[in-house]
Amino acid sequence: MHQASRIFYKEKRLEQKLQQIKRDTVLDNIMQNYQRFPIEIVKGKGSSVWDADGKKYLDYTSGIAVCNLGHVPDAVKEAVENQLESLWHCSNLYHIPAQKQLAEALTRHSFGDQVFFCNSGAEANEAAIKLARKYAADKGQKNTHDVVTFAQSFHGRTLATLTATGQSHVKAGFDPLPEGFQHLEFNDTAALDAIAAKRPCAVLLELVQGEGGIVPADTEWVRQLEGICKQNDILLILDEVQTGVGRTGKLFAYEHYGITPDVMTLAKGLGSGFPIGAVIAGKDAAASFTPGSHGTTFGGNPLASTAGLATLKEILDNNVIKNAEVQSDYLFSQLKRLESQFSLVQSVRGKGLLAGMEVSCPAKEIVIKALEKGVLILTAGANVVRLLPPLTTKKEEIDEVAGVLENILTAIEEKGGVKL
Ligand SMILES: *Cc1c(COP(=O)(O)O)cnc(C)c1O
Repeated sequence: MHQASRIFYKEKRLEQKLQQIKRDTVLDNIMQNYQRFPIEIVKGKGSSVWDADGKKYLDYTSGIAVCNLGHVPDAVKEAVENQLESLWHCSNLYHIPAQKQLAEALTRHSFGDQVFFCNSGAEANEAAIKLARKYAADKGQKNTHDVVTFAQSFHGRTLATLTATGQSHVKAGFDPLPEGFQHLEFNDTAALDAIAAKRPCAVLLELVQGEGGIVPADTEWVRQLEGICKQNDILLILDEVQTGVGRTGKLFAYEHYGITPDVMTLAKGLGSGFPIGAVIAGKDAAASFTPGSHGTTFGGNPLASTAGLATLKEILDNNVIKNAEVQSDYLFSQLKRLESQFSLVQSVRGKGLLAGMEVSCPAKEIVIKALEKGVLILTAGANVVRLLPPLTTKKEEIDEVAGVLENILTAIEEKGGVKL
């Protein structure tokens, strides 16, 4: 059998197994659009979570890059508790102090001048796409209203953002999809040559593709892309929904690249688990969101903004990014060791505490075995194991995860696991 179909076949068998366990544990009145692991998480603190049976897990998913300060961080908990006493919600028809402070902090620590708040990553990207189209329209539509995105990218699940996404599996069954998106190859020089001719209003890019397999963009490629955008009045929109807020060892991933985008979207790590998304833009682009042009009921409400502000403060004031940098070096040294030790490990890549280990067996097999051993990790596509430790993680926790991975890889190789 061809190796790709062998992986696919094993993956299917695992899915059937999970489906079986799920039948026994999950209530039927929840729509079955997620493939859930068969545990119920009821408590979290720091790097750990506990299931309903009291079993403790080391959480190296951070709720998919959300709980960057670990679970229930004291500083955020206190700020939100105080806000709970005074005001939960008042709509964006009025000024919201915490929202203003969070916008001030985000713009002070980034390229941006103004912020629009929403509730999620997809909403942030949706808003950024609208902003780019409006900006092009305001400028007399010199360019088309198209947005260029890249193969294997992930930008969300709303109709526009799934159309922007460069992976066909999120699109199946949802036709007709909105118009105005063009896809090019990621990290590809020919793609750079093609952009200007397509005359898009914007390029939407992840600097490290997350869901697509933890693939960092090449620095030189990104710099050339930035130049092309600037020359042709194309907005460069960075989707930092997963990479932002310290995840890559800098507050924002673009700092690794020495570039300045026009627009950036954030969500996952911004509120420590309170739903909040943000679009940050320079004042030129931001000016296109005139009164009434866009809006949301909940976006940046007092509770979410307070959580965001406390999260950002904690990250900036307590050397959290420095810790992420130091622990990243150690994590990657351990993953590299596994790569040299096991032929199952094909490559190790990522930035900061966004780490991927490409394997020649179904990544899910490793994730399920790790869960059984009390460690939560993720996949990124069929054959990449994804590790997203909290930015506050410690050396001993990395040792524990590396030990568990080593045991699992040893067992799979001994069983004669799929080798490429
Ligand atoms: C998770 C993610 C999104 C979507 O965010 P939601 O909050 O799930 O809507 C968009 N872009 C990237 C890069 C992501 O990782």
